[in-house]
Amino acid sequence: MLVIMRDHASQSQIKHVVDLLEEVGAQAHLSGGEVKTIIGVIGDREIVYSLELQGLPGVEEVVRVLKPYKLVSRDFQPEDTVVHLGPHSSIGGGAVGVMAGPCSIESEEQMMTVARACRAAGATVLRGGAYKPRSSPYAFQGLGVEGLKMLRAAGDETGLPIVTEVLDVRDAETVAQYADLLQVGARNMQNFMMLDELGKMGKPVLLKRGLSATIEELLSAAEYVLKGGNRDLILCERGIRTFETYTRNTLDLAAVAALKMLTHLPVIVDPSHATGRRELVSVMSRAGIVSGADGLMVEVHPDPEHAKCDGPQSLRPEEFDELMDGVRPLLDLTGGHMGWE
Ligand code: PEP
Ligand code: MN
Repeated sequence: MLVIMRDHASQSQIKHVVDLLEEVGAQAHLSGGEVKTIIGVIGDREIVYSLELQGLPGVEEVVRVLKPYKLVSRDFQPEDTVVHLGPHSSIGGGAVGVMAGPCSIESEEQMMTVARACRAAGATVLRGGAYKPRSSPYAFQGLGVEGLKMLRAAGDETGLPIVTEVLDVRDAETVAQYADLLQVGARNMQNFMMLDELGKMGKPVLLKRGLSATIEELLSAAEYVLKGGNRDLILCERGIRTFETYTRNTLDLAAVAALKMLTHLPVIVDPSHATGRRELVSVMSRAGIVSGADGLMVEVHPDPEHAKCDGPQSLRPEEFDELMDGVRPLLDLTGGHMGWE
């Protein structure tokens, strides 16, 4: 349920509604715009409805929400969420963030080289996997904590905030000690225990769409994180499973446009995992931005032929530089700006 307060409702009117809700054991999440406050209510439906909040001083409307998510919806918060990832880098509300780096962290030298190249080309966040979700248990699984240290050092050297995947909820605290943004991979999108934990942690979260997840399932998964009190969440469209095999996945750009309507959360596009093909990454990056995405996640490797993971979809640094040159002019078209100050 949403309680929409009248324009300029007083603090005591808002507090009165919140107190009534809390007295019956419901949670009240406030979305305060300059003029309007909206209260998202989570609790036993029947009890909450029996409060008859409609008609109380300052209450404009009580809306019953039939969707399985509330806090992530635009009805609850009409203004875009902006996620700040450090002193210079932000995503959302017109700020376009570009996360770039290798699929997996392989060595100190690899990370430093790629970090410098990504920053020089205009990336705003550095990526790298330390814990890798691999289809085969015999494939490279990542460097773990040693990798996190290498990524952190490369981030500090270049001033870029870092994003890396939390593969297992047991590693969440450790990863959070190093990373600025915690990635939930496609395979963990509906790991509800992990989403609960990340909702309680004070670190921004990047939630990737599951391989066969619907838009509603993605938003419902995001709701877990916001319900825990963490409002800093970025969604990522990374391609879904279809009958097509030429590309690794099918990039669902309509989902990007739909998500931008349905939610206030930033949405980014990962054309690397979506296509699995280096030659398609640049053009689909541009398509993502034109579709309304707030940013990109792109795999970049100094030597893709020898990459331990996802070489065929990784750009060489000079190719990433060209990608950025192709993206910048589009921002005039979309009214966005690079999320770096
Ligand atoms: C990744 O970003 O390296 C990754 C494994 O992505 P996804 O979870 O989207 O497959
Ligand atoms: Mn990868």
